[in-house]
Amino acid sequence: MTEQRRISFSPPDITQAEIDEVTEALRSGWITTGPKTKEFERELAAFTGAARVAAFNSATAALECALRALGVGPGDEVITSAYTYTASCSVICHVGATPVLCDTAPDSYEMDYDALASLVTERTKAVIPVDIAGRMVDYDRLFAALESVRNLWQPASDLQRAFDRVVVLADAAHSLGATAGGRASGSVADFTAFSFHAVKNLTTAEGGALAWRAGAFDSEALYREFMLMSLHGQTKDALSKTQAGAWEYDIAYPGWKCNMTDLQAALGLAQLRRYPALLARRRELVERYEAGLADLAVDVLQHYGNDTAGIDTTRSPEATSSASTELNSEDGTHEPIFASSGHLMLVRLPGKSSTFRNALIERLAGDGVSANVHYKPLPLLTAYRDLGFDIADFPNALAQFENEVTLPLHTLLADDDVSYVTAVFIRAYAALEAEGIH
Ligand SMILES: *Cc1c(COP(=O)(O)O)cnc(C)c1O
Repeated sequence: MTEQRRISFSPPDITQAEIDEVTEALRSGWITTGPKTKEFERELAAFTGAARVAAFNSATAALECALRALGVGPGDEVITSAYTYTASCSVICHVGATPVLCDTAPDSYEMDYDALASLVTERTKAVIPVDIAGRMVDYDRLFAALESVRNLWQPASDLQRAFDRVVVLADAAHSLGATAGGRASGSVADFTAFSFHAVKNLTTAEGGALAWRAGAFDSEALYREFMLMSLHGQTKDALSKTQAGAWEYDIAYPGWKCNMTDLQAALGLAQLRRYPALLARRRELVERYEAGLADLAVDVLQHYGNDTAGIDTTRSPEATSSASTELNSEDGTHEPIFASSGHLMLVRLPGKSSTFRNALIERLAGDGVSANVHYKPLPLLTAYRDLGFDIADFPNALAQFENEVTLPLHTLLADDDVSYVTAVFIRAYAALEAEGIH
């Protein structure tokens, strides 16, 4: 074994380009919401194919404002996965609605879509699926599940009436840049919330954005509503108020305060320019991990499903990308084509207990490697136990969690860092087995 390294879990990848862009914003005399934020919103819409994007100071704020714009509140139910970070669910509580948790399908990080359909009631207003690790969930199946219970849909606000089924609000904190069947995260769900928190693929230190598809509603009016909502309900933002003589403003209602600043947007713009290269590098790293762990009895989340076997490669890329699935001419099955954003390296240890998993993480730490677990199911957390959720009702999420370990995956990793992590992993795994730990 080579000498010990220190491999952090997910440090930000900041270059001179980011420093220059933020410095320019600092020197410009305008540091809060302004031209850089507007530019970042436009660039994100272009990158994701969304009709419109509104920036916020976090994904949590984006999710929460989406629920507020939809008019979701007390007496309403919103469904999310039991297998996620707290923010997917806490926002439901924040607006006063009732969270309903859905178990994952067996051996999956995604909700069980049959179970999901059975959880929908006449009070259900929205579902928040989670693109864990950067891989978009199966939106076709999710939409089909919601179609199957469309008779229960009872829209109760103007924006809800623009939809003819339960609204899909994606927690895409991990999936900026992911695609499935040629459609990018941001242009598939009705609403999509991205996070630019420091550990995410693209960072603004803290930050988030809400993207949405065009629909039977006024997109620009909705955008203005988000601007009001995120800035005190104030009818003019700070930039317009500084125009000479334009002091007058009104407060439409007591709003919130969760706008993005131009300093954050400047950082985001520089990151977004580098993002295609960062995504490509993540893919190389994932493939390196897959090769390195191939001989071990572990399950690695599949990040890239672009097996073109049986696909007519003479078709143009445009034609290929317009279909959500491709017919595999050899066996008549549909081969999904997808690419995740390569956010998290999720590894499961089939047949192993949480004791084994925890010991493995400790051994990795001893070798300088920071590993993590994504996620501890919500019913195991005090907040959600106190709301009455019982982990016994979520056996698949529990089983998924117990033997999961997340390895470092970020763009500061060198190729031989991945070789180091896999070597350390394989050694620790073998040692624990030899010690009789299961
Ligand atoms: C990071 C994260 C969030 C919250 O993002 P913030 O920008 O910190 O609000 C929500 N959901 C998931 C799955 C996350 O990983």
